Amino acid sequence: MGWKGLIEEYRELLPVDANTPVVSLNEGNTPLIFAPKISALINENANVFLKYEGLNPTGSFKDRGMTMAISKAKQAGAKAVMCASTGNTSASAAAYSARAGLKCIVLIPHGAIALGKLAQALIHGAEVLAIDGNFDLALELVREITDNYPVTLVNSLNPFRIEGQKTAAFEVCDSLGKAPDYLAIPVGNAGNITAYWKGFNQYKQSNKIVDLPVMLGFQAAGSAPIVNGAIVSDPKTIATAIKIGNPASWKSAEAARDESKGLINAVTDEEILQAYKLLAQAEGVFVEPASAASVAGIIKLAKAGYFKNKKKVNIVCVLTGHGLKDPDQAISSIKEPEYVSPVVEAILEKIKLD
Ligand SMILES: *Cc1c(COP(=O)(O)O)cnc(C)c1O
Repeated sequence: MGWKGLIEEYRELLPVDANTPVVSLNEGNTPLIFAPKISALINENANVFLKYEGLNPTGSFKDRGMTMAISKAKQAGAKAVMCASTGNTSASAAAYSARAGLKCIVLIPHGAIALGKLAQALIHGAEVLAIDGNFDLALELVREITDNYPVTLVNSLNPFRIEGQKTAAFEVCDSLGKAPDYLAIPVGNAGNITAYWKGFNQYKQSNKIVDLPVMLGFQAAGSAPIVNGAIVSDPKTIATAIKIGNPASWKSAEAARDESKGLINAVTDEEILQAYKLLAQAEGVFVEPASAASVAGIIKLAKAGYFKNKKKVNIVCVLTGHGLKDPDQAISSIKEPEYVSPVVEAILEKIKLD
């Protein structure tokens, strides 16, 4: 039968019961890909692996949380769900709601959503409303509405989202046969770093692993409230999925950082875009810009000597979303195609084969 989706695969570690109507698109089971070129950039002792979450059904890790949130909403008798989104949460909520037969309402910051994500939410039939304001304001409004009206919140403040997302940590350990030494991850609303830390701890308590990883979180420099220790009222970054100035899971992200003796640092948009191109051109892995923050972060740490004098280390970089989510960014990051006359000689002239 193969992989049945993460609720069935990790049922005994999740808050579901025999009556939970499982709403699944067979999410999870994403590949952990060895990255030889990036490993060599870190140092001769490093093995870097990429957890390619862009290969989930709607193209981001959000599906892990959404299969749980939508299944539990259905079990509780909900008729409608609602979220604020920088894009991927809405794409995922829309798809799982369509499958579950639930109404899905999405609040987005006007003009700040990558095109692919908006297309997904719309084609899956969500009611998409754009506000004049950023993600943080959209989330505030959604919290007020879901607190007071019969509609279920499916942002990562919904604890079932975190429960589903923690399964990515289980998969990483299952693939390596142990926890990695370091887990590098982009940080936006900080639900995912919270979820990974919870997953690693639960695997340790279940005696499936012995050691815990050091957690390395990365925010975009123009949108780095946790790094700065202060809310950013007007966050700026090309990495729209982590363009968040007041993370909902701020405290638990700091707990993951401190308990693991890790760090949460900032990377600039330029560093993010360099890592974005490196992933595509040296490793063949296409991600959206926010995802590349994890790779940009470990490259920056390596340059500062962070991984020096270490014995052989395994570093896992979480790649949160697929590159096709944000085609505009890809096209503006490289040269547009050149025109050529439709004759063999003209083409040969351009491509300069040996
Ligand atoms: C949601 C998202 C993030 C940020 O995850 P948080 O849980 O909000 O920290 C990063 N990258 C992508 C592609 C996302 O969709």
